[in-house]
Amino acid sequence: MKGGKLIVFSAPSGSGKTTIVRHLLSQEHLNLEFSISATSRAPRGDEKDGIDYYFISLEQFKKHMKGGDFLEWEEVYRDNFYGTLKTEVERIWAMGKNVIFDIDVVGGLRIKRKFPEETLAVFVRPPSVEELKIRLKKRKTESDEKINMRIAKASVEMATAPQFDFIIENDVLENALKEAEDLVAQHIAKNNRSEEEE
Ligand code: 5GP
Repeated sequence: MKGGKLIVFSAPSGSGKTTIVRHLLSQEHLNLEFSISATSRAPRGDEKDGIDYYFISLEQFKKHMKGGDFLEWEEVYRDNFYGTLKTEVERIWAMGKNVIFDIDVVGGLRIKRKFPEETLAVFVRPPSVEELKIRLKKRKTESDEKINMRIAKASVEMATAPQFDFIIENDVLENALKEAEDLVAQHIAKNNRSEEEE
């Protein structure tokens, strides 16, 4: 596999990373395309297959695992599997674009380890776990049990922040968006230069 750059945004659920990723995708000069993950969880709200995720059955997911089709996969929550198909990255690189991932911390760090030069790994830190809880409740898309599951995982995820290339504090959204845009632009420019030198 060879091609463009990889931009990973990882964070606890509800930290606002999806908002940041959407903003970056709207910036044409960054030439980004969203890596659509495969998941065994059911669609939420108005999520669409082939846009937000490839929604597949647990059985199909396990078949892909056995076939070695994933770049990385994770059982992010019990019985809810998520993974990046190798074909997804190939699809985007074939378009001549850079890939942006909205994935969990373990998956994000795995991609960084597999492609250390190409990858910019950014951790988005919410102001506090308390604030996370408020945001998840406001979203009203999950049961209390599911929200509690996400909160419990958040504390563990926060501890992995130092392993990322950069940490963005998502306190004031405007600032977080600007910081994210600058980091991605710099990463893309830096790598392009070293490619020219080769
Ligand atoms: P949600 O159910 O809220 O869409 O996602 C739950 C978590 O799974 C989020 O942290 C999200 O970033 C992560 N996730 C989504 N796709 C992938 C993937 O392909 N691989 C991994 N490891 N995590 C993913």
